[in-house]
Amino acid sequence: MGKQIKKFKINIESDKYMKKNLVVGAGFSGAVIANLIADKLNEKVLIIDKKNHIAGNCYDYRDKNGIMIHQYGSHIFHTDNQKVWEFITQFTDFNNYEHKVLGMIDGIETHIPFNINTLYDVFPREKANRLEKKLITLYGSEVKIPILEFLKQDDEELKELANYVYEKIFLYYTTKQWGVAPSSVDGAVTARVPVYISKDNRYFQDKYQGIPTNGYTEVVKKLLNHPNIEIRLNTDYKNLTENYNRVFYTGAIDEFFNYELGQLPYRSVYFEFEEHDKEFYQNNSVVNYPCSENYTRIHEYKYYLNDKSKNTVIAKEYSENFELGKNERYYPIPKDENKELYEKYLEKAKDLKNVYFFGRLGDYKYYDMDKAIARSIEVFESLDKEGDF
Ligand code: FAD
Ligand code: UDP
Repeated sequence: MGKQIKKFKINIESDKYMKKNLVVGAGFSGAVIANLIADKLNEKVLIIDKKNHIAGNCYDYRDKNGIMIHQYGSHIFHTDNQKVWEFITQFTDFNNYEHKVLGMIDGIETHIPFNINTLYDVFPREKANRLEKKLITLYGSEVKIPILEFLKQDDEELKELANYVYEKIFLYYTTKQWGVAPSSVDGAVTARVPVYISKDNRYFQDKYQGIPTNGYTEVVKKLLNHPNIEIRLNTDYKNLTENYNRVFYTGAIDEFFNYELGQLPYRSVYFEFEEHDKEFYQNNSVVNYPCSENYTRIHEYKYYLNDKSKNTVIAKEYSENFELGKNERYYPIPKDENKELYEKYLEKAKDLKNVYFFGRLGDYKYYDMDKAIARSIEVFESLDKEGDF
């Protein structure tokens, strides 16, 4: 059974009188709501995390070489959301890094997403030229097409191209990443990396993008640096015994309810770190391996903040299924049956007063950082600030 949230007895006489808020999870989702409650409502917040650090999956640190390492894989901030940008820039500056991804296709290092420049890298000039013209006639310029859509071609030569892109870029990578072929993964997932009829090699076209100049952990530290906020690390919600007026839960909703209705599936990832005795290991921060190797991509961290050192640190990223007790949850798996199970948990959650579920795990949604921040702000704004006790 999940915990029943009992109301905290309020003694108006006591000078300790203060509404008590518990935030479970010190990733971006938890840190943003903790900050808003502490600052805008002037209420006490206890924020806990079962990990030994704040910042959740965005955690980074400087290693002995002075390189900022993203422990759980490269994190690039990008958003078109003005409100999120204005909020987060109160806590950090960003550099002007614009993310590009290279991919190794049959020994050729080229641009991902597949774009017009990729076309010229992988095909002879004449053929690339012909295909470019056909693509622009069909779609126009600066257009993004999800691969599952792109496969539906009438023209024989474009069909051949679409099959090539599918096989060389999506089929094996997606099978490594998700354990199934692209057709069995929600279309929105592969649509994150479309076929792009453009010569723009950037991975994201958002108005705002960059890396926080002192790293993500510093941003979260600043969010939590408030006299009303207490942080407790190495603390699992299931071991807490106190009661709180409000609980903001950014952990996994099925875990909260002790898996009563079954487990929500996730994909997990793990990283093999290597230090190399040379200035650079590869030509870019991220190189994908869409049609070879067992890992999906290699991250080289010094590129993000332009860290200078004679050595370099890389991480090879591998994917596997999440297994309770064995590894961590990283990616919710967008699928109808999983959504249905999630919604059943959400129904149960309605019986609890003043418990809010959100974040990548609480909402069971494949959020980027900006979406997680936007969602926390939304939860804060939807609170009935006076009447919900
Ligand atoms: P999390 O960061 O997962 O935080 C949840 C926290 O809750 C964790 O610290 C966990 O330990 C804690 N917790 C869970 N259960 C309990 C419990 N019972 N008791 C106590 N604590 C608990 N986004 C981008 O915008 N750009 C990127 O480039 C990008 N790259 C990514 C790469 C990878 C490999 C992954 C996995 C994600 C990436 N993301 C990226 C997404 C980004 O990591 C998330 O949007 C963000 O971390 C969501 O924050 P969150 O607080 O919801 O979740
Ligand atoms: N993808 C792919 N080949 C690539 C890059 C991405 O097949 O070279 C697919 C894959 O299914 C992946 C999805 O597109 O999970 C989204 O990629 P993205 O880089 O956005 O994933 P994330 O950084 O969130 O892991």
